[in-house]
Amino acid sequence: MNRKGLIIVVSGFSGVGKGTLMKELIKRYDRYALSVSATTRCPRPGEENGREYFFVSNEEFERLIEENGLIEHAGFVNHYYGTPRKFVEDKLSDGIDVILEIEIQGARQIKKQYPDAVLLFVMPPSAIELKNRLIGRGTESAEVIDKRLKRAKEEAVGIEDYDYIVVNDDLDECVQKVHQIIDAAHHAPFRNIDFINTIRNELFEL
Ligand code: ADP
Ligand code: 5GP
Repeated sequence: MNRKGLIIVVSGFSGVGKGTLMKELIKRYDRYALSVSATTRCPRPGEENGREYFFVSNEEFERLIEENGLIEHAGFVNHYYGTPRKFVEDKLSDGIDVILEIEIQGARQIKKQYPDAVLLFVMPPSAIELKNRLIGRGTESAEVIDKRLKRAKEEAVGIEDYDYIVVNDDLDECVQKVHQIIDAAHHAPFRNIDFINTIRNELFEL
């Protein structure tokens, strides 16, 4: 069976732990490449340009769109976010799974362009735990936290469009679950048509 590189979209409410989860997944399994998005928001303490995000101005972001340099982009609570095209295309052509940690509008754009992408939504164990994590991170003002929670209510409506949900309660368990889901997705018949046809042809030649 020939393993083809897949796009794995990981979405979830702000503060659910997507960033934490993805860092752990990449550390544990070297088969995944994490796409670094461009954003117009400011870096949080500890974030580095080119590592968490490419931090760009509005003008630079608009130029990226004009140059067709992004495979998707969306607005999220006063800022723009987008996925650089080249990294994703290069990794896929090398047969490597690329993880896009993006919100729901971007996820829909990806599914249209890449129908075999795997869409995964990270859930909190409860709404109050989500709020506590967002407050506990201590990186946004009370006003921005309110906006992000409001956005969570809007995003909650679209969860059924995803292929899988995973609950981020115990971090270790969740990382393992994400890995298992991706591995299982690789075994779906529709993602292995070439292999299936090869065996079918061999059967006829026996
Ligand atoms: P997101 O990227 O989804 O906005 P973060 O990864 O920044 O979320 O996590 C938000 C906060 O929740 C951080 O302070 C992080 O340390 C914490 N956190 C993440 N995962 C867990 C978990 N499984 N249990 C408890 N706290 C968590
Ligand atoms: P944050 O500001 O907390 O890092 O991210 C805010 C939201 O933007 C999160 O839901 C995150 O998944 C999403 N996001 C990050 N990068 C991208 C991207 O390239 N495209 C889209 N559509 N959303 C993104």
